[in-house]
Amino acid sequence: MPNVSDESPVNKINFANFTEVLVDEVIEDLFEVPTLGVCKCDRCRYDIKALALNSLPPKYVVTRKGEVYAKMDVFRNQMRVDVLRAVIEAIEIVKKRPSHQ
Ligand SMILES: [Zn+2]
Repeated sequence: MPNVSDESPVNKINFANFTEVLVDEVIEDLFEVPTLGVCKCDRCRYDIKALALNSLPPKYVVTRKGEVYAKMDVFRNQMRVDVLRAVIEAIEIVKKRPSHQ
């Protein structure tokens, strides 16, 4: 028997800021670069994410849970360059002035 609460409609709906999804993707990608030269701890990662998101317009989306963001591909293509630029700028700021020593 499936859990009753899992079957309620609200649990099948996902609310997200798609800009945040993209920022997470870009940070993930850039953190793979060995020569990036920025601290990769959680604090610095969140600082980078916050800085990047504050400089980008939000894009709120409502999807059914498990639904892929495929229909957002147009938006992804439009935003990818801006998101990349914002994350790189944020990395430069955190690199110069990390919140910790
Ligand atoms: Zn750090």
